[in-house]
Amino acid sequence: MSRAGSSARGVAVLGSTGSIGRSTLAVLRRQREHFRVVALTAGRNAEAFDAQVAEWRPAYAGLAHRANGSPYPTGAEVLLQAATHPDVDVVVNAVVGAAGLDATLAALRAGKRVALANKETLVMAGDLVAQAACAGGGELVPVDSEHSAVLQCVSGRDGGLARLILTCSGGPFREWPAERVREATVEEALRHPTWRMGNKITVDSATLANKALELIEAHHLFGLSYDALDVVVHPQSIVHAFVEFCDGSVIAQLGFPSMELPILYALTHPARLPDAGLRRFDPVAAGALTFEPVRTDVFRALGAGLAAGRAGGISPAVFNAANEVAVAAFLEGRVPFGRIPEIIERVLDDHRPAPAAALAVVREADRWARERAAVYVRSS
Ligand code: NDP
Repeated sequence: MSRAGSSARGVAVLGSTGSIGRSTLAVLRRQREHFRVVALTAGRNAEAFDAQVAEWRPAYAGLAHRANGSPYPTGAEVLLQAATHPDVDVVVNAVVGAAGLDATLAALRAGKRVALANKETLVMAGDLVAQAACAGGGELVPVDSEHSAVLQCVSGRDGGLARLILTCSGGPFREWPAERVREATVEEALRHPTWRMGNKITVDSATLANKALELIEAHHLFGLSYDALDVVVHPQSIVHAFVEFCDGSVIAQLGFPSMELPILYALTHPARLPDAGLRRFDPVAAGALTFEPVRTDVFRALGAGLAAGRAGGISPAVFNAANEVAVAAFLEGRVPFGRIPEIIERVLDDHRPAPAAALAVVREADRWARERAAVYVRSS
């Protein structure tokens, strides 16, 4: 529903200077009749943020990190201010990592739609996120292309969902021998074959930790057990997900790799809007579509994350935190690529599984896992 006095729905973009944030603004630039930017937040890129604020003139603008001479309010609180602003109908959460959790919870409690790119927070606290939506009347709509694909396949159909097969490009090391993968450089890991994304998710895509995060995300979003969730490698990234129904029928969603379509759909779901800025599909240009099994022995982060998902409770939060620390250390040149899954596995081995009964428990698990992962980083 739109707010009184305007037919355009109010949007907050959290993480507006990032890859998803910029794609969101590109979509909104073409949809000014239907959406208006009410709030923007970013991390520390004050220069890019200044230009966005000058263009969009939002009612609220804040930076999470203090920048010299910046006129904006700063601190973690700005995410909450933007997410709960009274004129905001839809919160696009495009923050990277655990930093996005509180804003997701606050927006859902305030009855907003959350277009969620920030998968880490659903992984950390999926049940608590669902409770917040229930309590406040908010609604969670995925931005991730695979989950958007599933939503597009199931919307308007009445139940019968049996299994999901999420596709995975395989990342830059899909065909590399295991020994070579272990020694991959930062530059090599950041050269994703089909998607241009922020650094953290690009490394997650190279280790396949990203697919584990997505399986856990799918479990929470679509209520399926892990036995009903599969992954297949699809190097062309044209089919985003397959949805199998109880009679064995399978529906898939296709498109050239671009986040702008899933972002637009997260804003308009279950309706659709035309967008002349999006590349139309062309099966001939898409070419041959191929599928392969995942090399789980080489990309062990996937198995580790899946085991954490199956364990439930605080284990996914531990997986997420260990992964965040290991990826940051890799990007800073402090650990080799091959150490990322090892650090994750060790931290998961060390942790004591427990129910994620309250936010404080999840936060403590997150803190503990970061500290533990840092020990393994230092000993690398
Ligand atoms: P980027 O690193 O490109 O952008 C992250 C954004 O979050 C930036 O605006 C950054 O601000 C801001 N930010 C970083 N740290 C904080 C913090 N502590 N507090 C507040 N804001 C912060 O990431 P992506 O856009 O690639 O990814 C964002 C999320 O979307 C991730 O969870 C990712 O997994 C998910 N996703 C991304 C996809 C993609 O195509 N990129 C696809 C599907 C999901 P600044 O730059 O100003 O420091």
